[in-house]
Amino acid sequence: MDPLKDFTSEPRSFTYVGNPARVIFGPGTIARLPDEVDRLGAKRALILSTPAQQGDAERLADLLGARAVGVFPGAAMHTPVDISDYATDRARSLKADVLVAIGGGSTTGLGKAIALRTDLPQIVLPTTYAGSEMTPILGETSNGQKRTQSSPRILPEVVIYDVELTLGLPAGLSGTSGINAIAHAVEALYARDSNPVIDALAVEAIGALAGALPAIAADPLDLAARSRALYGAWLCGVCLGSVGMALHHKLCHTLGGSFDLPHSETHTIVLPHALAYNAPAIPGAMERLARVLGPDPAAALFRIGRAVGAPAGLKDLGMPEGGIDRAADLALSNPYWNPRPLERPALRDLIARAWDGAEPLSS
Ligand code: NAD
Repeated sequence: MDPLKDFTSEPRSFTYVGNPARVIFGPGTIARLPDEVDRLGAKRALILSTPAQQGDAERLADLLGARAVGVFPGAAMHTPVDISDYATDRARSLKADVLVAIGGGSTTGLGKAIALRTDLPQIVLPTTYAGSEMTPILGETSNGQKRTQSSPRILPEVVIYDVELTLGLPAGLSGTSGINAIAHAVEALYARDSNPVIDALAVEAIGALAGALPAIAADPLDLAARSRALYGAWLCGVCLGSVGMALHHKLCHTLGGSFDLPHSETHTIVLPHALAYNAPAIPGAMERLARVLGPDPAAALFRIGRAVGAPAGLKDLGMPEGGIDRAADLALSNPYWNPRPLERPALRDLIARAWDGAEPLSS
């Protein structure tokens, strides 16, 4: 398919905006951290992690020696504002001049929240496939409400993708985190502001992850598969940070918030159904997806979910059956752009199939 045409015969017009970041990729690249701190001209690093990854954060403090002024192992899901305010006070009182975040999207979110408040530079060492490190987007919660904003101050300056840091990511979370990443690239292919650069990255990313995730499920210590997955996740993060998302991301946001469902599992279950819903309206994206996923991309994504042992249905995550109609109403209550208009009966059917763990409608 001609990258300068979409699914019409008209030449494509587009705007491309790159998010500047320095990326260091490969096994053992954690060793580059002290040089990267020096390169930023920083001397006082505050290291961030979740409580579960405090050991990793302390290992970084040892590596940085006198360049580390503290470890804050208090990152939590959904970036609660009170934790971000508290950590910002810590950063100020320690006179930190750089933030180093090691972990998944929750820890990256805390670093972004502090950077938004202080304009401190960030170095991120991702340990999941969430991709937040590549985006200028921050979602913060207070009083049960999630507020999302975008600013160049939020975008991390340096990202060190050390593949070895992902070896400990449990097999189940590796699979769902990887499919969560694929969702960013899938929706980028039919974004209203899509462009050929992001299309190329999205196809490359989906191909890398689709091959790697079943291999990781079979052997979580397979370094080559881990490398391909992290490479794919990086590119998926670039997609998420560059173009707008649609039905799939909005629906997962609504379902997660309304029924308290886990983030990456919800994405994994919904993605094949959201893609099948949009398929009739996105022939160009389906053609690109077919190149890396085969003739029925929605069915292929469903199969990858099974191959990585992910839960098949939202009912397995604890969503009540009575929530299907409520979710359909909520999804329609806040209109947003989607390639296929939101039609209640088909949307309800999508949610019902995702709830039940049924196969997606054939695309
Ligand atoms: P997470 O960061 O919440 O991590 C889940 C758990 O796994 C944590 O306890 C963490 O410490 C642990 N963990 C992470 N890596 C590990 C490893 N290698 N080994 C062992 N344990 C490990 O999960 P996530 O899926 O990475 O991030 C989800 C969050 O990120 C959500 O809140 C989501 O909204 C946000 N997010 C934001 C963006 C953005 O652009 N702003 C993008 C993607 C995700």
